[in-house]
Amino acid sequence: MAITFRTILSSSSGNCILIQTEETNLLVDCGFRSQMGCKTALKEVLSDISSIDAVIVTHNHGDHINYSALKVLEKNNVPVYVFEGSTDELKYKHYNGYSFAALDLRSFSAGSFEINDLTIEAVEVPHHPGISTFAFVIRHKRPDGECKILVAADFTDGAALTEHLSDADLIYIEANHCLELLRIFPNFNSIYHMNNPATARLLADTLGKRKTPPQAVVLGHLSNQRNEPQKAIDEIKRAFRNKGHEINFPIEVAPKFDPSKEIKIA
Ligand SMILES: [Zn+2]
Ligand SMILES: [Zn+2]
Repeated sequence: MAITFRTILSSSSGNCILIQTEETNLLVDCGFRSQMGCKTALKEVLSDISSIDAVIVTHNHGDHINYSALKVLEKNNVPVYVFEGSTDELKYKHYNGYSFAALDLRSFSAGSFEINDLTIEAVEVPHHPGISTFAFVIRHKRPDGECKILVAADFTDGAALTEHLSDADLIYIEANHCLELLRIFPNFNSIYHMNNPATARLLADTLGKRKTPPQAVVLGHLSNQRNEPQKAIDEIKRAFRNKGHEINFPIEVAPKFDPSKEIKIA
């Protein structure tokens, strides 16, 4: 049974990832800024929005979940899973005074929960003060073992992720900004995100030691103004070279505004 991964939107202005098995359509985040944009983008990759089994939300920043996306998900009866300590915050930030009476809002706690044939482990990561933020480890059981995807969007320190970086089959990880571009276009909020050298060091430290490489690494959540795909890739190459490691896995950079190609995990 195959599992596939693709990003639908991935940048500092909007994030949405689709993970599919034979039984399940799972979204990680749904950060579209308009209802029309959300419907159009989801219909480009799924014929029917109501076929989405769940959206799991990393945290409540508007580039990951917001009013427009919640409206579309409510209308299509898609369950939305938010950290149990963040449901009031979601309502305060994104309901905009509306009741969302028909929204199927559910909660998860730190630890594991199931969605059909997927087991999701929520791992808390440091990001923005006062905003609980999670990376997700998504496991799919199959006869010859399990397939494991790590999705780490916004964060500042990967200490909680090292054990998962050491054995995940597919790794999606934030490479938010280039330090040179940040000097040209200063932004205080960049301190809450992984810069290219930090992501590169984390990957070189953890993947360099692996016996079996991951099947794919996808860099995502690139800043619109302060990063470019080639700059992120070059930084990874430099970090692996400095540590004397080879890059023996494919690296992709998630397109900022369009769906990525589909990655099938063997
Ligand atoms: Zn974000
Ligand atoms: Zn954020």
